[in-house]
Amino acid sequence: MFPTQKKPVKFKLPKAILSTIAFLLLSVSAGCSESNQNKATIPETPQAQEANSTPKPTQEVAKTRVVATFLPMYWFTKAVAGDTANVDILVPPETEVHDYQATPQNVKAIANASVLVKNGLGMEGFLDGTVKSASNAKLTRIDASKGIETVGEISPVEHTASGHDHDHGDKNPHVWLDPVLAKQQVSNIRDGLIAADPANKAIYEANASAYIKQLEDLDKEFQQTLQKTPNCTFITFHDAFPYLAKRYNLKQVAVVEIPEDQLSPKDVQKAVNAVKKYQVKTLFSEPGVDNKLLTSLSKDLNLTLNELDPLERGSTDSQQYFRAMRSNLKTLSNACK
Ligand SMILES: [Zn+2]
Repeated sequence: MFPTQKKPVKFKLPKAILSTIAFLLLSVSAGCSESNQNKATIPETPQAQEANSTPKPTQEVAKTRVVATFLPMYWFTKAVAGDTANVDILVPPETEVHDYQATPQNVKAIANASVLVKNGLGMEGFLDGTVKSASNAKLTRIDASKGIETVGEISPVEHTASGHDHDHGDKNPHVWLDPVLAKQQVSNIRDGLIAADPANKAIYEANASAYIKQLEDLDKEFQQTLQKTPNCTFITFHDAFPYLAKRYNLKQVAVVEIPEDQLSPKDVQKAVNAVKKYQVKTLFSEPGVDNKLLTSLSKDLNLTLNELDPLERGSTDSQQYFRAMRSNLKTLSNACK
């Protein structure tokens, strides 16, 4: 046994996560819609009129500037805002968010924004210092996880010998992976945008309802599909799926943290032990992770290797949420058979 190193962790999950691999089964998906144009038309002012005392009537109405922290927050915000507000993302969509270090551009983006949307629950470890540096007194902050009942570790977490600390404490931040909680995040974002930009209330409401409807459909698909395989057991390498497991009665039996680089013989042994102990049938890795070690591990153990996506990286299209979740659902339903 290795001494578990428990530092209170902030956000440091980087590699642990990526490297991660999960043995799991689940997924979801949905879709969203963007909408509307809100461009004020600029009347062509005949030059003749220009010199007058008449104040120039119409300049293009400035759109509300919104920054969202990382991918799922960007998807949800963009789905609600459509083209009515300008939405930017702080963490580049191909970058590991748990490990993210803010850039000067991030500070600038926050300094120039009216609204900031975050997941919260410790997910954006880089954010507080960055917001402070931006010193934007007028910034409206939206905490998308407001009011959501959090869970901590729902199963034993085996830390790696290398000391990667992937401990979320009692608040696991991966709430977006449960379509029902995602609905609440979308509602929180909608309400925050309306508060910051009440003139466009009707647009935000309509966009949010369309996306929420897609989330509800997705939830139904998960329920219907996964009820055929009750109590499906899994082990994951990235502690990203407790909300999904809870929602659809999957049994997460353990989280085995594995460093993405330099998997040591001890790490491998831990994974092997956990797989044997819990009689897991499938190993789940993550998209974008080099799976050579896991591939050979799964071969040695006679297990299949699948990918479960924590939706932390990928396309910025708001509909990507639904595609990735449906792909996860397919993976889960196959692996849970
Ligand atoms: Zn994560």
